[in-house]
Amino acid sequence: MYRYSSIRSYLISCSLMLFSFQVFADEASNSQQVFTSADSPQISLAQSTKVMVISGAVFSLKTLSEHDKSAAQIQLLEIQSSGVTFNIAEQYLLNVIRANISNTEGQEHKVINWLNKAISLEPSLAKKQLDSPLFADAYLLLSTVYQRQGQDKLAFDNKKKYIKKYFSHLKQQKELRVKRLNEIYNIEKKHEENELLAQNNEIKQYALSRAESDRTQQHIHIAIFIIAVSVFFLLLVRQFKIRRALKLLAKTDSLTQLPNRRSFFSCGDTYMSKALSSDKELSILMLDIDDFKTINDNLGHDAGDSVICNVATLAAETMRSRDFFARIGGEEFAAILPDATIEQARSIAEHIREKIQDNASANISDNENHKQTVTVSIGIASIRDVKKDFDSLLHAADLAMYQAKIKGCNQVYSFTKAEK
Ligand code: GH3
Ligand code: MG
Ligand code: MG
Repeated sequence: MYRYSSIRSYLISCSLMLFSFQVFADEASNSQQVFTSADSPQISLAQSTKVMVISGAVFSLKTLSEHDKSAAQIQLLEIQSSGVTFNIAEQYLLNVIRANISNTEGQEHKVINWLNKAISLEPSLAKKQLDSPLFADAYLLLSTVYQRQGQDKLAFDNKKKYIKKYFSHLKQQKELRVKRLNEIYNIEKKHEENELLAQNNEIKQYALSRAESDRTQQHIHIAIFIIAVSVFFLLLVRQFKIRRALKLLAKTDSLTQLPNRRSFFSCGDTYMSKALSSDKELSILMLDIDDFKTINDNLGHDAGDSVICNVATLAAETMRSRDFFARIGGEEFAAILPDATIEQARSIAEHIREKIQDNASANISDNENHKQTVTVSIGIASIRDVKKDFDSLLHAADLAMYQAKIKGCNQVYSFTKAEK
């Protein structure tokens, strides 16, 4: 009988071990379901509830009940008499504690009773909490007690439930670890992404500031270029104006602002060759202020200057716009009269002479006693009489002007071929 009992125990242990390996293999291959739902209908109902808090006193009492039953019995009585209220999870554990305390030879029915009381609370507890070793221990104890009673089927069923819970707990732990690792990974990934983003922003910022400084540099260069071009242009204009003024100055008589002797001679050849090539009329007029030395002596050099200026103005006013009138010496003037015959030249010269005779004298003195007469002698010559060159024509007009002086001044004298 004894031998038969030990063989039976051995067979139960072997089948439980085989079962453990099967469950372990299923766990390893991520098998979701080892037992049918009919194996634990109460647990599946409790899946939606939350994990409850276990007080430290209940927790330590459970550990104590597994090693020192009498000490645990005393503490249990103290806790019960303290009037503290316990939540469902703590009530579950208190029943397990009572079962542990009762777990002695011959008291198996009490242990089973307490454990069944505990198990009856399962519908109110979370599956997650029930799968933890703290709660699943109840099934291990139940299995041991049934085994002691020789109820192998119940021992096997409860051990099976314990192992199922144990692996479910392992799975939960694994999932929790994976979840935590995922969280850590995600945080690190986020951190790296943020760093990358910050670096990208820095690069963008750098590129922006670089582009901005490049633009500023470009603007500065453009501004410098514009200023340099403007300065260069202003200097060029200034230089051009100075050159033009110098040119004009070189050609102009400073006292009368008429063209000077150099200008007169440089233009003379051009007028002459134009008239000769186109067979047009051209006359020259030579004017000299009479007895100017006396004017200077009587009225002074400054008054002499103003006489020169008056004569210049009066003569220029009488000229036609196309005539070229210049001061060629101290009190000597000359004019080129394009398209003018000797008669037309004489008419112009007469007008000038009369105008000076009538106006120039009055201008220099308002004192009757010191009245100074200003007259001019004018010689004229035409291209029809002197065809050689400009100098010859001018010389002819000069000869005519001297003739006018000889004849008594204040008159116009024309050069004729006979006077050559
Ligand atoms: P004629 O009637 O023969 O022409 O005699 P004139 O006195 O007018 O001529 P002359 O050549 O003897 O004298 C000219 C004088 O003109 C001499 C000179 O001092 C003076 N003269 C020359 N240039 C200027 C000048 O720019 N200003 C002044 N005030 N006098 C000048
Ligand atoms: Mg003279
Ligand atoms: Mg004179």
